[in-house]
Amino acid sequence: MALKIDLDLCTGCGACVATCPFGALSQRAEDGKVDVNEACTACGACVDVCPVGALTLEVADRSAMAAEAEQYRGLWVYAEQRAGQLQDVTLELLGQGRTLADKLGVELSAVLLGHQVRGLGDKLFEYGADKVYLVDHPALENYTAEPYAEAMSALVRKYKPEALLAGATSIGRGFIARVAIQVNAGLTADCTELDVDVEKRLLLQTRPAFGGNIMACIVCPDHRPQMATVRPKVFAPLAPVPGRTGELIEEALNLKDPVVRVLETVNAMQNEVNVAGAEFIVTGGRGVGAPENFKLLEDLADALGGAAIGASRAAVDAGWISSFHQVGQTGKTVRPKIYIACGVSGQIQHLVGMSSSDTIIAINKDPDAPIFGVADIGIVGDLFQVVPALTKALRR
Ligand SMILES: Cc1cc2nc3c(=O)[nH]c(=O)nc-3n(C[C@H](O)[C@H](O)[C@H](O)COP(=O)(O)OP(=O)(O)OC[C@H]3O[C@@H](n4cnc5c(N)ncnc54)[C@H](O)[C@@H]3O)c2cc1C
Repeated sequence: MALKIDLDLCTGCGACVATCPFGALSQRAEDGKVDVNEACTACGACVDVCPVGALTLEVADRSAMAAEAEQYRGLWVYAEQRAGQLQDVTLELLGQGRTLADKLGVELSAVLLGHQVRGLGDKLFEYGADKVYLVDHPALENYTAEPYAEAMSALVRKYKPEALLAGATSIGRGFIARVAIQVNAGLTADCTELDVDVEKRLLLQTRPAFGGNIMACIVCPDHRPQMATVRPKVFAPLAPVPGRTGELIEEALNLKDPVVRVLETVNAMQNEVNVAGAEFIVTGGRGVGAPENFKLLEDLADALGGAAIGASRAAVDAGWISSFHQVGQTGKTVRPKIYIACGVSGQIQHLVGMSSSDTIIAINKDPDAPIFGVADIGIVGDLFQVVPALTKALRR
């Protein structure tokens, strides 16, 4: 869709300019007639208010777009690294990317951006990449959105992948949206499932919508690459194949000097729990009743040999525990070996963050609580009796 302006009909009344929510329309100084700029989203608000029908939405030539899309092949994963360490989400995306690339019959490539990070290529091959595109540049030593987006966009324009996946981390979320704008593609953020329609070569991108009350499957039929960010812990990495190799393509780019310079990096999370990476999690919901009652959960976590404490949003919103512990749609996505939910009802916004756990144990006094729908083991009972009994049994 694109906005078309018939300047012969335009009277320069300005009604459309006042209506545009994106500031995409302006009146020319010489005759007051309207110009449109690149901020236009073709929302159509101006079309409705134009009294003389000078504005229309033109349907794009889809056959030309389809022909253009045919030039794009291959599936890419952004290989996120921090301080030279590949992040787990990269390996998880390579795992799912391998499955999707095999279904489509295309190569799986990883894109590695950074400075002096060439050595990470081997691990990317071992975890499923056929190719690694490397941009090694001093401007990429510390992450800032501008040069990362510039490098990724340059690679996309040159090599034309049909799909590009990145972790929905602060880095992935931070620069991939810029890439989408720069290469004129769409982006589905925070996906919780990915699949492909092999016949139409579409990436099926599923994510919670309308406050998490529905799971929407989003497709991007016209523009390439199809781009998605995926939360950490949604997918499992493949087992590495030691010695597996592939093709490393180093791209020398002339990146602009970044406007933002990183002077110092401080790890504000070092004293905080890492719920997202924990193997065992004991989570408390509203049923826990008070902040001091989290002590019961901590005892159980301790008896399990140091489990992390999770929380539902209700517990966080009540101020019983910090938001670092929150699991769910607006909290962390977790994939522990054992997830013990105590006094959590199991609303969809909580489930999307933990239903991939290996084993889910739910303790709830309501036998109809939705959490029992995803639990492998359900204990109907009062957590104030069940949790201490479990702790005692484990200690014994
Ligand atoms: C946009 C959006 C994003 C959201 N994001 C998140 C998110 O990231 N994470 C999240 O968790 N929620 C999220 N929510 C909120 C979510 O919809 C629920 O409100 C929330 O998960 C409920 O938390 P809860 O299960 O602790 O509380 P409740 O739904 O009130 O459930 C409490 C449960 O405790 C049980 N119980 C009470 N006393 C006991 C007892 N003594 N022993 C055993 N069981 C007991 C009750 O039977 C009940 O099932 C979001 C909502 C929206 C709209």
